[in-house]
Amino acid sequence: MRRKGRGAGHAAVPSVGFVSLGCPKALVDSEHIVTQLRAEGYEIAPSYRDADLVVVNTCGFIDAAVAESLDAIGEALAENGKVIVTGCLGARDSPDGANLIESVHPKVLAVTGPHATAEVMEHVHRNLPKPHDPYTDLVPPAGIKLTARHYAYLKISEGCNHRCSFCIIPSMRGDLVSRGIGDVVREARALFESGVRELVIVSQDTSAYGVDLRYRTGFVDGRPVRTRLLELARELAALAAAHDAWVRLHYVYPYPHVDEVVELIASQPSQGTRGLLAYLDVPLQHSDPRILRLMKRPASGERNIERIRAWRALVPDITVRSTFIVGFPGETQREFESLLEFLEQAELDRVGCFAYSPVHGAAANGLPDPVPAAEREARRERFMQVQSEVSARRLRRFVGRTMRVLVEGTEQDASNRTVALGRTAMDAPEIDGVVRFGGSGKLPIGGFVDVRISSSDAHDLRGEMIG
Ligand code: SF4
Repeated sequence: MRRKGRGAGHAAVPSVGFVSLGCPKALVDSEHIVTQLRAEGYEIAPSYRDADLVVVNTCGFIDAAVAESLDAIGEALAENGKVIVTGCLGARDSPDGANLIESVHPKVLAVTGPHATAEVMEHVHRNLPKPHDPYTDLVPPAGIKLTARHYAYLKISEGCNHRCSFCIIPSMRGDLVSRGIGDVVREARALFESGVRELVIVSQDTSAYGVDLRYRTGFVDGRPVRTRLLELARELAALAAAHDAWVRLHYVYPYPHVDEVVELIASQPSQGTRGLLAYLDVPLQHSDPRILRLMKRPASGERNIERIRAWRALVPDITVRSTFIVGFPGETQREFESLLEFLEQAELDRVGCFAYSPVHGAAANGLPDPVPAAEREARRERFMQVQSEVSARRLRRFVGRTMRVLVEGTEQDASNRTVALGRTAMDAPEIDGVVRFGGSGKLPIGGFVDVRISSSDAHDLRGEMIG
């Protein structure tokens, strides 16, 4: 545009006038700025009057060019009033050492030198806010989440270094690749700042975080921090505490260094009812050493019952969740019975169980003595029966206590009354139990309330909201 009036009235879309002077290099700078303006949704106005502000790209090569540039700036100020100056002349000083353009035209909004697209755009944003973009403006800074707004999953690594015989994940996703610790903590912060109250940490093998990077030192806010589960848990615990939120760890294989994570949970004043939760999802899959060897499970040699008891000695209310496979090829009745005994002794809080099912491409398919499908299913039902008795026993101890509950929403009960639903630190979203509760007062969905527990069953709790 130059010096052509078209009448009054600005378009609804923010509109920028552009005056380009000077050599081809300046012209390229102008093209970059105009391209960026258009990419962000600004209109390029055909006249000063149609523009909401004007950018003048100047030339300072010879006196005539300087004069032309200063004239163009003066004209834009007179016709429009809002002017940003860029280009070679913007970098020139007057004889008294001040910026030449600001001395001659003190009313300009801003002055930059040449090759300064980002700087020019910053001044444009400040003086003429960026137009709404229906494609990107609906995306929150933390990205789009497919979960409810108050909880989110955060993946800290991809792939797996193990080769469990029933699993084909490593052949699809390859070996473990951990994300940098700075990157993970940045995403966690963005999620908390966007309103997430519970962050669920996931991966194929959370305990192995950083192994592929040799636990190298990364940076969190400029501080050196090792890429390791304990350090990550410490960072996330601090962030969660600062945002009054929860962090929950999933897929934690019981390698020895997990004991340090439990010590970290114990060191929190809340003992894991806030911040880093006293909750570990430890996928054990079986307890019999021969079956674990056939499964090629990681950490199968660990003394799991002793470990769990030691964790409970440190954090009495720690929730230990696990998953198991029954009817694995070659599993004898005796080995299955030993698994049930393990369940009774370990007193796990939350448990999932699958009847073995062959996955195309898994090494376990070639193992001898497959268990018939009906028997696999019968073992699964018996397993769940034993576990629901254990679970009912474990939950009974909470009756009479007051627990912090993250509110999920409401449902209708059998008598068609509305009851509130929430989860305690013991309950991961979608897979564990819930708390159903009544009470007067506003229900902060996605926020925390205190609930006094009045009864329990095999998996869930009931109670009354306090306050
Ligand atoms: S089941 Fe085994 S191989 Fe598969 S992802 Fe988990 S640890 Fe890795």
